[in-house]
Amino acid sequence: MAVRAASWAFLALLLAVDASAAERPAAPPASADSFPVATDVRLGGDEAQTRFVMDFSRKIELHAFTLADPYRVVIDIPQVIFQLPPKAGETGRGLIKAFRFGLVMQGGSRLVFDLAKPARIEKAFVVDPTDSAPARLVLDLAQTDREAFLHKVAIDSRAARADLPRADGPESKGSDSRPLVVLDPGHGGIDIGTKGPGGEEEKDIVLNFAQRLRDRVEKTGKYRVLMTRTDDTFVPLGDRVRIARDAGAALFVSIHADSLPHGEGDAQGASIYTLSDTATDSEAARLAEKENRADVIAGVDLKGEPDDVAGILIDLAERETKSFSVQFAHKLLGEMKAVTRLHKTPLKSAGFRVLRAPDVPSVLVELGYVSNRQDLQSLVSDNWRNRTADSIAQAIDGYFSAHLAGARSGAN
Ligand SMILES: [Zn+2]
Repeated sequence: MAVRAASWAFLALLLAVDASAAERPAAPPASADSFPVATDVRLGGDEAQTRFVMDFSRKIELHAFTLADPYRVVIDIPQVIFQLPPKAGETGRGLIKAFRFGLVMQGGSRLVFDLAKPARIEKAFVVDPTDSAPARLVLDLAQTDREAFLHKVAIDSRAARADLPRADGPESKGSDSRPLVVLDPGHGGIDIGTKGPGGEEEKDIVLNFAQRLRDRVEKTGKYRVLMTRTDDTFVPLGDRVRIARDAGAALFVSIHADSLPHGEGDAQGASIYTLSDTATDSEAARLAEKENRADVIAGVDLKGEPDDVAGILIDLAERETKSFSVQFAHKLLGEMKAVTRLHKTPLKSAGFRVLRAPDVPSVLVELGYVSNRQDLQSLVSDNWRNRTADSIAQAIDGYFSAHLAGARSGAN
């Protein structure tokens, strides 16, 4: 204990104003509407306890959590401007091997610490600025074992989920905290999607449907709704995913309609898809390939997410997003089967690009087949569109009711 106390006393020095502070130029004045500026960084301690301090031009909010394999600590902060000394983060000290920082989304920056061994976050907080010192973000780490580390990762993961939608960005700050549902009518513009025998175009059918669905979800008053397109414009697949992630979506629903080529038999009914690298069957694989072709049609080279963002977020994804997507798919199935015909195997998965947001539960609904006479009749009927949109709105509400209740009890 004595060693520990002494060690912390030493670390406290890092926080104290040192003699050279008076000679350092003051942090640039920040007007209320500019981003905070990170101006300096310090590390102290050893492999038992390590302290990280970062100076900011003004106080910020933070959210810290841990990731395993490799061991990392992540701190999410509002969007800031990093004006740190060159090579900052390249080498570490004690429990911190190295650290990275940067913008990960509109309104959000992130610090990622690579750990030398498992560590727990003892403290993570921001100290108010004083007359003589800037605001300081302080992270205290203490060595722990793998089992304890993994246990904490599981708790952090749950808390991160409960925090959605992200409330730290300047755009959403102090405003609407209702969960955001992003509706994604497929195709648009020069990409018409699939086509019915009478010239009915998928892009029109799904936009009309998504608008009805939007109205219904908004009418509950419980959710915000954002559409990836509201008119006949082309939106690349990667942009659709980005729109959802940048806005802090809590749920992503892509709307499409399918068709079978002439002479390849008949198929009918709605299908609900989640993301998987291995398709459930050859038809699912064919469909994913067809839908993913949207970007080829418009000549957009889609490389997907920037690597750094994907790398950082992928762990979160693996843990929970997939299971939430599947939960929502089951809710959809339950509601839709009461009002519309479903495909003989209505729940499937395949590698749809538009479902690849690593941190947003995402589902793709194929409303039916324009190549099937009965389905097409439904797809263009007001009555069918309304009641099917009702059922999906119901499923969205059911999903959030169950999901938010679970998050609350888990946080206790
Ligand atoms: Zn489509």
